[in-house]
Amino acid sequence: MNKVCAIFGGSRGIGRSVAQLLAQKGYRLAIIARNLEVAKAAAGDLGGDHLAFRCDVAKEHDVQNTFEEMEKNLGRVNFLVNAAGINRDSLLVRTKTEDMISQLHTNLLGSMLTCKAALRTMIQQQGGSIVNVGSITGLKGNSGQTVYCASKGGLVGFSRALAKEVARKKIRVNVVAPGFIHTDMTKDLNEEHLKKNIPLQRFGEPVEVAHAVVFLLESSYITGHVLVVDGGLQLVM
Ligand code: NDP
Repeated sequence: MNKVCAIFGGSRGIGRSVAQLLAQKGYRLAIIARNLEVAKAAAGDLGGDHLAFRCDVAKEHDVQNTFEEMEKNLGRVNFLVNAAGINRDSLLVRTKTEDMISQLHTNLLGSMLTCKAALRTMIQQQGGSIVNVGSITGLKGNSGQTVYCASKGGLVGFSRALAKEVARKKIRVNVVAPGFIHTDMTKDLNEEHLKKNIPLQRFGEPVEVAHAVVFLLESSYITGHVLVVDGGLQLVM
């Protein structure tokens, strides 16, 4: 099987680290994000024959177009990583409806749309592997992140149900649930304070999550699983 992987959110942070590991393993990659220039730079840095695509995962039309373009230019996509995500942290009583919608649309609806689009090819070729990036907060809940937690908790339910739905087609669907990881998303947090609550006493690095994503992507007998990568945070949450 040729190894073509679409990485939504592959231009920065965790998705970019996944891209770096997969490039070393000989995959052909589609690096997908809203900012095409940043995605192009990330694809270029990988060396080799990787391509960048502009897409807002929250928009069905964008997702459909991107899959058409990927198929034309890279061939059939048989691996999918959903790492695109945003947070708009605030107490629920202060959360604007537009911020609820943008988080749900990007983090949950977006992954539904990309999975649906990817399945067309995966079902035809009777095989494929999907990893969705959730969050430990989607499993445990976190004050100040109700909507983000809902989007990530929903992603677990969605992924487990989809895993059941497509297992007979030899398609696997898994989730990686990170804790605090050093990326743009966490750069404004008070790390000194927060890390005291993490059993391993530090934030994780994107590559530490990327290894878990690649492990699940390439596994053969694991589906519907949620792999937590959080320095032990779930033990104390
Ligand atoms: P970053 O902010 O570093 O990167 C986010 C990536 O997603 C970028 O490539 C960004 O590119 C892309 N993206 C965001 N919105 C969209 C959109 N609507 N359409 C397409 N691409 C989009 O985040 P992280 O690497 O930290 O996060 C990756 C995933 O891991 C997210 O789902 C996040 O929720 C999750 N996560 C992160 C944790 C952390 O501590 N960092 C902890 C737990 C979970 P662009 O802006 O150009 O679109």
